[in-house]
Amino acid sequence: MIWNPEIETMPRAALEKLQSERLAKLAEYVYARVPMYKQRMDAAKVRPSDIRGIHDLHKLPFTKKSDLRDNYPFGLFAVPMSEVTRVHASSGTTGKPTVVGYTKNDIDMWAEVAARCFAMSGAQPGDMFQNAYGYGLFTGGLGMHYGAERFGCTVIPISGGNTARQILLLQDFGTAVMACTPSYALTLADEILRLGIDPKSLKVRSFILGAEPWTEEMRTELEAKLGTHAVNIYGLSEVLGPGVSNECIEAKSGMHIAEDHFLTEVLNPSTGEPVADGEVGEIVFTTLTKEAMPVLRYRTGDLCTITREKCICGRTHARMGRILGRTDDMLIIRGVNVFPSQIEAALVGKEPLTPHYALIVTREGHLDSMEVQIEVHDAFYRDLGEARFADADDEALHRVRAYARKSLHDVLGLNADVTLLAPGQAPRSEGGKLKRVFDRRK
Ligand code: ADP
Ligand code: ZN
Repeated sequence: MIWNPEIETMPRAALEKLQSERLAKLAEYVYARVPMYKQRMDAAKVRPSDIRGIHDLHKLPFTKKSDLRDNYPFGLFAVPMSEVTRVHASSGTTGKPTVVGYTKNDIDMWAEVAARCFAMSGAQPGDMFQNAYGYGLFTGGLGMHYGAERFGCTVIPISGGNTARQILLLQDFGTAVMACTPSYALTLADEILRLGIDPKSLKVRSFILGAEPWTEEMRTELEAKLGTHAVNIYGLSEVLGPGVSNECIEAKSGMHIAEDHFLTEVLNPSTGEPVADGEVGEIVFTTLTKEAMPVLRYRTGDLCTITREKCICGRTHARMGRILGRTDDMLIIRGVNVFPSQIEAALVGKEPLTPHYALIVTREGHLDSMEVQIEVHDAFYRDLGEARFADADDEALHRVRAYARKSLHDVLGLNADVTLLAPGQAPRSEGGKLKRVFDRRK
C-alpha cells in the first residue's frame, strides 16, 4: 500500500520541478525571517532571487549542529513564538541538546510523512500500533504517534522501557506493528525467547526500527528470532524527527526519502562537494516546507549512500542506504577510520557470537588499542559450562576469539583484542539509544 501515491510515485521530472519551486520560496522566506541566514547569504553574496531552482542549491550556506547551539534555544525560528505549537530537542547523543520548533502546519506535514512510513512498513489501517519510542522532548515518540493516528492505527503510547509490560501488551493487545530502537528490539526478542513465549503466538507483523545505526546482520537475526519484518526508519530532530525516510517492505533496500519536503544531497564530508550516487558521503538536507525552523543544507554528520534508481515498490523517491556511522562517531584507531557498524557487520550472526557487544578504545603511550567485548549465545555458554568459560586457555574459547579477531581484521585491517562475555554481560538498551562505544583515550 502507498499512502500518497500521487506524490510518492511522481515522475522525477515533476518532483524536481516541485522541489525547485519550493526551494526558491524557501530562500526568500529564510532571508526575510532568520537573521543568521540573511547574514550568511549576504556574506556569500547570494540574493534570494539567485535561487531559482534546485540547481542553485550549492549557492546556499550550510547549517551545522553548532549553529543550532549558537542560536540556542529559539534563535533560528522563522515565526513568532505565538505560531510555534510545539518544541522538541535532540536526544543529545553527541552533546548539549539542540532545540527545534514546529508550527501547526509543520506538525501536519510530519504526520503525513510519518503516515507514509507506516504504509511502507507494511502496516494496515486498523492495526494495533505499540509505540515504544520515548515520548517527551525526543522526537521519536510523538512523531510516530501522530503518524500512526493519521494512518489509522490504534496507538498504544507505551513509550520506551519496561520490557515486562511491553511483552504483556504485545500478547494481550494483539499488537501488529511496533516501533522502537533496534537495540531495544533485540532486548525484547531475547526476553520473549527467555520467557519461553512462542513468537508465533504473537500477532506482530512489522517492527519499525530506527534512531540509531544497525545492520543487515541484525535484521536477519531479529527477523529470524521473531518471525516478523524489521524495517528501517530514519529521521533527525533538526530536520523533522522520524519520517524523513523509511524502507519499503517490498524491497527492504534503502529508505525512501520524502523528497517533496526534504531536498537531499550527499557530499564529501571534507570538501563539501557532491559524491556520485552509490558512493558514501555525508547526507545533507534542506527542508522545503517547514515553517517554524527551516534548515538550509543541514550537515547531518550521517554517512550513507543514495540511489535514485527505480524501486520495485513503484515509489520514485530516492532511497538512502543504511547509516554507516556519523562523522562524529567515527573512531580513528592507529590512523584507520573505524565505525562501530563495521564491527557489527564483522561479527554479528557468526556463531556463537550475539549482537550484544561493546567497543573499548584505550591508549598506552602513543599506541591505540581496541578491544571488542562480545557476548556468546546461551547455548554455547551452557554447553561449555561456567568453569571452562572462565578458563582463558580453553581451546574452544581460543578458537572463537581467533576467528573473531580474523573477521575484524578482514573488515577493518586492524588487530583488535576480543573478549568473550557470558550471556547478559554486554550493555543492553533499556528502551532508548544504546551506548556501545567507550573511547577512553581522552
Ligand atoms: P541526536 O543527534 O541527539 O541523537 P536525534 O534524536 O534527532 O538527535 O537523532 C538523530 C540521529 O539519530 C541521526 O542524525 C542519526 O545519526 C541517528 N539515526 C536516526 N535514525 C537512524 C537509522 N535508521 N539508522 C541509523 N542512525 C539513525
Ligand atoms: Zn521501494
